Amino acid sequence: MLQSDLTAEVAGSRKLWTADEARALFDQPFMDLLFQAQTVHRRTFDPNRVQMSRLLSIKTGGCPEDCSYCSQSSRYDSGLSASKLIEVERVIAEARRARDAGATRYCMGAAWRSPKERDMAQVIAMVEGVKALGMETCMTLGMLDGDQAQRLKRAGLDYYNHNIDTSEAHYASVITTRTFADRLETLQNVRDSGIKVCSGGILGLGEGNQDRVEMLVTLANLPEPPESVPINMLIPVEGTPLADAAPVDPIDFVRTIATARIMMPESHVRLSAGRTGMSDEMQAMCFFAGANSIFVGDTLLTKDNPGEDLDMRLFARLGLKPMAAHEHHPEDRPAAPGEAQREALRRADPAIPVLR
Ligand code: SF4
Repeated sequence: MLQSDLTAEVAGSRKLWTADEARALFDQPFMDLLFQAQTVHRRTFDPNRVQMSRLLSIKTGGCPEDCSYCSQSSRYDSGLSASKLIEVERVIAEARRARDAGATRYCMGAAWRSPKERDMAQVIAMVEGVKALGMETCMTLGMLDGDQAQRLKRAGLDYYNHNIDTSEAHYASVITTRTFADRLETLQNVRDSGIKVCSGGILGLGEGNQDRVEMLVTLANLPEPPESVPINMLIPVEGTPLADAAPVDPIDFVRTIATARIMMPESHVRLSAGRTGMSDEMQAMCFFAGANSIFVGDTLLTKDNPGEDLDMRLFARLGLKPMAAHEHHPEDRPAAPGEAQREALRRADPAIPVLR
């Protein structure tokens, strides 16, 4: 079934996925799945470049929501102490450091159900200040209404992160304080404002592979697919309901990345939280499967992250290079594959049309 889909992409028509089609993609032999994902990846992106984002928690803990994986929910005793919204100057100083260390996008996250009016001016000042450093800006503040999204857009916000987390079917067993439909409404408000959408999910929430596939179908079939698709691997946190969740099979994780890459060929697929639990080899496999974005830095909101030194060592071993800011925009896409690559693709499957 994949051949016709590849042809549809090349023809420029957008494919909408059924769950059965996506599941067939996910379930095919691993080597076939990886080859197809890498083939699709090379049509849109330079396979040796990875976008690097830096994430800062601008307001930690004390969140009223009940996301059962989250150390920041006030409903669970995770030992995390809550803090207030931090000062704008501190955010800008941290962003400058991140930029100087090579990050091109700065993501600011607050543990809120949604931003309150009293916080909007401070949040807007953060966006303006980080934008003035020449970085791409991203925020994750919970649910947004249309007016809030438009104000953030006017301040210069490039991306808004709001994950759907899992499939609609599994969603209610993970979160009860807001619905799957609420999530989609925020994504639509963000899209309508002109801010780019960052939305993905978490593996390891007790879901099965069918849920993983259905989550990807929801994302890929949005009126416009998200520009960024973070795929997280749960880091279980003591005190949360998912503290003893079963670990994710690494092969299923790579399959999810590859399936996301094929279904959303123009999106950045981010290897997000959970990299500390992955070997270098598994991360390399994820990059081969089409992941082309990571978070850099020692921490992710409240979780550990490998840190720049480890990442740069891994990049050097794999011959990967950081992507420049805005490099991924469609107009900046790398040229079509070179002749050697075209020939390799033709030899691999003469029926695959190759962009010129
Ligand atoms: S994931 Fe976000 S919304 Fe859910 S509890 Fe944690 S901080 Fe709150």
